[in-house]
Formats: sequence, C-alpha cells, structure tokens
Amino acid sequence: MPEPRPEIRPVALPDDQRAEGRSFDEAELALLREVLDSGTLTATKGAMTRRLESDFAERLGRAHAIALSSGSAAVHAAVAALEAEPGEEVVTTPITDMGALACMLAQGLIPVFADVDPRTGNVDASTVAARLSDRTRAVVATHLFGRLADPAPLVSLCRTHDLRLVEDAAQAFDARHGAVVAGAYGDIACFSFQQGKHMTTGEGGIAVTDDPGLARALRLFVNKSWPYGETDPDHEGVAPNYRMNELTAAVAVAQLGKLDGMLASRRRAVARFRAGIEDLAGIELPAPAREADPAWWRLGLIVDPEFVPGGNVALGAALRRRGVGAAPRYVGKPAFACRVFRERRTFGSSEWPFPLARPEALDWSPERFPGVRAFLDRVLVLAINERYDDDAVDRLLDALRDARDELGGHA
Ligand SMILES: *Cc1c(COP(=O)(O)O)cnc(C)c1O
Repeated sequence: MPEPRPEIRPVALPDDQRAEGRSFDEAELALLREVLDSGTLTATKGAMTRRLESDFAERLGRAHAIALSSGSAAVHAAVAALEAEPGEEVVTTPITDMGALACMLAQGLIPVFADVDPRTGNVDASTVAARLSDRTRAVVATHLFGRLADPAPLVSLCRTHDLRLVEDAAQAFDARHGAVVAGAYGDIACFSFQQGKHMTTGEGGIAVTDDPGLARALRLFVNKSWPYGETDPDHEGVAPNYRMNELTAAVAVAQLGKLDGMLASRRRAVARFRAGIEDLAGIELPAPAREADPAWWRLGLIVDPEFVPGGNVALGAALRRRGVGAAPRYVGKPAFACRVFRERRTFGSSEWPFPLARPEALDWSPERFPGVRAFLDRVLVLAINERYDDDAVDRLLDALRDARDELGGHA
C-alpha cells in the first residue's frame, strides 16, 4: 500500500481583499459622516478631496497633488500632461499593471520597453538608456513591489536628454533610497489606492508634481479639460472625468493618517520574514542596497530551481495547496506578450498608434529582454499587509518550509 500523504492543513493569513487584512475603523467613519452631513459629494464643490490633496502633497514635500479615480487614471493624466505628439515614445517597463501602459496607447504614444534587473524587476538608467531615440519624450519608472532603485542615475539621464521622468509609485508609498523617497523626485509621480495597495479606498489614486504647468495640465485632464476657477474658462482639449469623489477622499484622508503605522507594521513583518528564510537554500528575498529602505508592497521571492525542484511554479502550487496566495511569474508574461500589443488591438482595425512607431521601438525579441525573462522565470510573489503580526509571519514561514520540503528541496 502506498504511504498515505501527510495531510496538508490550510494556513490562515490576513487577506488584504477582506477586513482582516485592512485597517478601517472609526476614523474613516467619522470623515465619511462629515462628507455626508455636508451634502456635497463632488470634489468640484466639496472640501475633502482638497484636504486629501493638501495632506498628501505636504507629506511628500511637493507643491501640488491631484486626486483621481484610480492609479491608472493618475498615469494616464501624467502621460497626457506631457503634451507629446502621436508616435512619440515613452520608455518604461514591460512588468507592470496594464493600466500604466494602455493609457500611453490611448494618448497615441508608443511604450518602448526597457529590460529589467533580473533580481528586482526594476528598469535602471542603463536599460533605459539602451532604448532612447530622438522620439523619446519621457520615462515612466515603476518601483516594483516597493523597491526604489537609486534615483540619481535615472534623474541625470533624463536631465541630459531633456526627458520628463514619471514615477509610478503605486507599489511604493514611502520607499526610500538614502534621503530620497518615492514620489518626491519625478517630474510627476503617481500613486494608487486600489484595494491591495499600502493605503486603500478600493479604487482611487493621486498624482503629485512641483511644476505649476504640469499641475494645471493634470487638473485639466481630470476635469474634461475644464479649468475650474479660472476666468473665461473653456473646454481646452479631449479629457475624461477622472475625478475622485468626496466619499473616497474621506477614506483616503483617514488611511493617510494611518499610513506610517501600516508601513512600520509591514517593515516589521518583512524583517522577521527575511530572518526566517535565511536557512532556506534557493529561496531568497533579494537584499535591498545598503542605502535603500523598501516599502515592501509584496514579497518578490527569487526561487532557484537548482535547490527547489520545479522552481517558482512548483513552489507556488505547493503554497496554494496550503491556502497561501502565491503568484509565480507575477503578471504571468511581459506586457508585450499580451494581445493588446501582440495583435495591436486598439481602435477598431486601425492598430493606431502602432503604425506610427519605428520598427525598432516594437522589437520585442527575447534576446533584448534577458532580465525580464530571468526575473519572470524565478520570481514568486507572496502577499503581505499591515495585519501580518509575528504569528502570521511564522505561519507563512512554516508553510513555505513545508512546501519546499514537499518538493524535495535540498540544502
Ligand atoms: C496598481 C498599479 C497601477 C494601477 O492602479 P489602479 O488603481 O489599479 O488603476 C499602476 N501601476 C502599478 C505599478 C500598480 O501596481
């Protein structure tokens, strides 16, 4: 008779898609009541969205913050604010949320994909530099999983070539590198308040900048291109209604008040987790650079199949058998392998704006993306949130150890 398999018991961990993994209390309720009592739910007339914008800008030391309906809307407004010509190029990462890319196509811009660091999944100044052309207008740098790469080389590259730098800081509230904090240095920086982000309103986002011209362009883009409050206003261009509403802003203001506590809690959990996997050969959470202090949105583990048979895919499946959410390959495939890019599915049968692109801008041959491939082949993404206490981290570590043993992982 075959030996019975030891029973696999599911592990309970706080899930950020539900109350147990999020932090809502009287603070949100009090501000929601304030908005409801005011009777004004639109940001064009109310005070709460303005309060959020001013609190958020002040926290980052920036001159302007513009709240929006999502993080995707924030990136859309940012690329629209560039006022670029159709066919001009934005260099960015192929490992990101599609919301950060579709908006470029919608504005007639060509996303030109740079390779990434095989351990962090981030673009850097050298991979971006390899993709610049005389049509490049901007760089959108994503701080994946809360890791902020040294901003200095990228800032200097953008300055040298007169390019706008947009930070996609949706996953990186408070990520630091030396004295620099995510969202504080790009010409524009974008954040998301989506359900699973560091602070959340379910859906929502915000963009920040110091440049008054960019701030005006961002605000116009959120408001159907209508300049509220100016004399002799007119609809100046094509833009959606991407406004946040006052109820969302109420939750955001309350969440912002809790952000430091939630970040500290994540950092504590990750410190314990890092110590706990030190003896697990083949499973690594790449150490931050000496000056870096990541914001730890998700844990992007690098799994070495030499030590863990089946690598990230098998380990992910073994963890899921234990009830632990685990995503091998993160987004699955690079953006350029998705139908929207591969088949140019955009506006009717026009393929627009792809026909405007230089052929090289659309060269997605594997040999141009060794870092993307190495990263996706090894990364296994685990969720954490501010409600992971020591016990939860230990349960996660036990599950990870157990899953590795099941696969016959060795030292
Ligand atoms: C979440 C996210 C977005 C999009 O934000 P939404 O609020 O979901 O629209 C964009 N970029 C990155 C890197 C993200 O993680």
